Parts: sequence; C-alpha cells; structure tokens
Amino acid sequence: MIKEKLRGTRFYYFLVEVKRRLEVFKKIPKPDYTYAEFCEKLANSKATFMKYGDLNYTKSNRFPFEPEVSLVASKKTVFIRHDIDHSPFVALKMAKVEAEHGLYGSYYMLTTDSPDIKKIWREEKEEALNALKKIQDLGHEVGLHYDLLGDFLESGNDVGKICEKTLTGFREAGINVFGCVAHGSQRLSKYLNAKGIKDFPRECINFNIWEESNEKEAMVELNDRKIKVPFLKLSDYEMKYEAYKVRRNYYHSDNNYVFWQHGDPIHTINNKMKEGEILCILVHPFVWRKNME
Ligand SMILES: [Zn+2]
Repeated sequence: MIKEKLRGTRFYYFLVEVKRRLEVFKKIPKPDYTYAEFCEKLANSKATFMKYGDLNYTKSNRFPFEPEVSLVASKKTVFIRHDIDHSPFVALKMAKVEAEHGLYGSYYMLTTDSPDIKKIWREEKEEALNALKKIQDLGHEVGLHYDLLGDFLESGNDVGKICEKTLTGFREAGINVFGCVAHGSQRLSKYLNAKGIKDFPRECINFNIWEESNEKEAMVELNDRKIKVPFLKLSDYEMKYEAYKVRRNYYHSDNNYVFWQHGDPIHTINNKMKEGEILCILVHPFVWRKNME
C-alpha cells in the first residue's frame, strides 16, 4: 500500500537506488555449475549453434523475421544471445570460454541506460570497442543492444541520429553490425511506473520503433501530450533483423539470476526440440562474472 503511494515519487527512486547499491553486497545466486561446464554440456548436445547475423530473413504471418528455411530445416538450431548490460570486458571472458568449446553466438552491446555502461562508454570507449572487436575476432557476432525509446523519452532527441552515431562508432572500430536487440530499460520502467502503467503495453517496448518489426507507429504520452514514438527502418541503418522478433520455438534466460527461466536449455535440446525448431538462450555475461570457469 505504502509502496503504491510512493511509486513515481523522487523518494521512491531514491529507495530503489539504495536497494540496488545494497544488492552488491548480497550473495549472488549461482547455478550448480560454471559457465565453462555449461558450455561443455552444450557442446555435447545435438544442437547446431548459429549467429543471427549469418542468416537472411523474410516476414511471415507469425514472425517479422523468419530465418531462411534451408539453413534451419534439418537441425536443432540454437542461438546463444548475450545482452551486454554492464561490461564488455566480462563479455570478452565469456566469448573466450565459448570459443574454447567450439561455441559461437551473438553479443549485443548497450551504450545507454545502465550506469556501469554509461561510465565505460564515457571513460573507456576505445577499450570497450577493442573488447568487442576481440569478441568478433573469436568468431562471434557483435550487434547493438539498444534503448532508443528510453533515449527518446529522456531527451526528446532525434534517436535516429543517436542510433547512427553509435553504429558508426562500432563500424569504424571494425565491428560488422547486422542486427540489434531491445534492452529491458530501467528508464522505460521508471517512465511507465510514473505514468501508472503497470503491464508494459506493447507500444512502450523498444522493439516497436522498427518498421520491419511492427505494423504501425506507436503513441505515448509525454509531458501530457500524446506523441508518436520514433519509427525507424532497420535497413536504413544497414541492419537486417531484431533478434526478439526472430522466430523461436523455445526461450530460456538467466534473467534475474534464475537458472533457468522457462526450464533447462540442455533438457530442451535433448528432450523437447525437433529438427527445424529454434531455441534462443539468453545469457547475461555479468550474471556469470564470478562463475565463469
Ligand atoms: Zn539489456
């Protein structure tokens, strides 16, 4: 009740921040294996590991991005998706562990929203881009983890320009970006909470800003005015997919240190998946930072 009353106030965000800082001292939940051991189990499974950027996509009735049939038809396709929300340096460690096990996946780098990332992007941008290039050189794909709707709501700026500038930085560092994936933004949560919007309507979720993954422009309320959210085209930024909207039949994630959400990926590969089906495993390198090898 008190929580409901406070929600959206400055004091509420102060408490949220205090809680976040105290969580640093809390024991991090761990699975009963290291990431290297998890990789060994994956490598011994009957799955084929692919990178989103290696495929071409067409729009189908059910999915904005349906992978080309010939590449996924007679195998159990697994995409390991990595959301880099805190540190590209931890992500590089993970990329090395995977490569040692012959596994390859797609890494998506955030450059806004999270305080850790913003600090790195401000003070160690060159080192960060170097780490991302090394991840690519190990055989992985590197793409963009974006919070363009958060950028827009916070600043009102032209997010197309922000997107272009970020991608130019990546590409000038030798990183070949083919696609992106939306970030579950803290700023968007704050905005939605402040507006009393609890169940995160579709139009407020980042991936709806792309013409290719959404049918029509979304509207939001900003400073008591209804406005259209930016509506951009992936192809204008030389990107060909939004990973959220690529067909998947199964989805497991280590979100919030749960191992795993929606069941164990190894069990799914070995006991549930049929040929032609697709599994996305979402890992957050930061979640494994103390449990990598
Ligand atoms: Zn994220």
